[in-house]
Amino acid sequence: MSQTIEMPKTRAKCEPICIRVGLFGKVLVTGGGGFIGGHLVRRLVESGCEVRTVDIKPKLDWWQRFRDAEEIVVDLCDKAACMAVCDGVDVVVNLACDMGGIGFIELNKAACMQSVLINTNLLKAARHHGVGRYFYSSSACVYRADAQDKPGMPPLKESDAYPAAPEQGYGHEKLFSEQMCQLYHEDYGLETRIARFHNVMGPHGSWCDGREKAPAAICRKVAEAVLSGKHVIDIWGDGTRTRSFCWIDDCIEGILRLTASDCVKPLNLGSTELVTINELVSMVEEIGRVKLTRQYDTSKPQGVFGRNSDNTALKEALGWEPTTRLHDGLVPTYDWIFQQLAKKMGAKR
Ligand code: NAD
Repeated sequence: MSQTIEMPKTRAKCEPICIRVGLFGKVLVTGGGGFIGGHLVRRLVESGCEVRTVDIKPKLDWWQRFRDAEEIVVDLCDKAACMAVCDGVDVVVNLACDMGGIGFIELNKAACMQSVLINTNLLKAARHHGVGRYFYSSSACVYRADAQDKPGMPPLKESDAYPAAPEQGYGHEKLFSEQMCQLYHEDYGLETRIARFHNVMGPHGSWCDGREKAPAAICRKVAEAVLSGKHVIDIWGDGTRTRSFCWIDDCIEGILRLTASDCVKPLNLGSTELVTINELVSMVEEIGRVKLTRQYDTSKPQGVFGRNSDNTALKEALGWEPTTRLHDGLVPTYDWIFQQLAKKMGAKR
């Protein structure tokens, strides 16, 4: 059995996060070869934490790797694998999931649902090994469709997840896994924490493999136009749907703060800066210093009409919320994707 970490029950809301990271002990990050996992492992390693990181992908395909982290390649749908990787850890951060942007989740509903196996087996293993804290990465896709059926709908409150009508497949998986986490807390006292991420963006994540989300896809299309000189962009939908996008460093900060907090209920973790897809395209055009002819394709998957994060409960629980402006996050995201594409095309800026 691993040693259970001792975290004070209450703690000043604005205590610097670096102090709390030191309390984490040995951390297991699942999905560490993925986008958010890679950034979290970096932050933990830089803070001096002992980190074990696990993914199903071959290590060569991980977005980021760190010499100081223990790396394991295994399928976490397997119960025995979950038992093995949870042995000796104090905190589990479960980011492993078979997912992607709207183009992926609409066409891979059963595959998305199968990630219930990951979270269920990890919870069982965490309980068995006496893990001190367990973080689960949920999603805004748990929210009721009718709360998002027009552009510019009011920001989603945590209570808008019920009565349940989530995104088919992926959203059902997230809602079920949230329940499992909460019931493991209620029935077995496991200290579970749950964040509902709202579209996270940044470098070192999917940008051209069919799993990319809107910000990465638009950065890639603008970079393609710049590099090819063909000043045309195809946009999924009519450009009027509304979204907010959360900068990766804010997401990592939120994961750490929520994991260290006393809050057991699911919390939104997202930006409140609402934009239309057209506005997102304009921002990336400005960053890429180009103006493109827009071609709208309404036959492509587009997701709900309007989605934004209500951070009232987040601010109440953590005394903090994401503050990075969309433009400030898009600049490094675009630069990184431009470089990846240029490398791929053998071209120079
Ligand atoms: P990602 O796809 O980049 O990372 C997930 C990782 O999990 C991948 O590297 C994948 O190989 C791994 N994985 C999948 N199945 C596995 C298995 N059976 N065993 C071991 N590893 C497995 O995604 P991400 O953007 O880093 O997302 C991390 C978490 O945050 C996921 O739970 C996701 O649903 C959630 N989330 C992300 C966003 C976002 O905008 N990125 C929004 C809402 C929720």
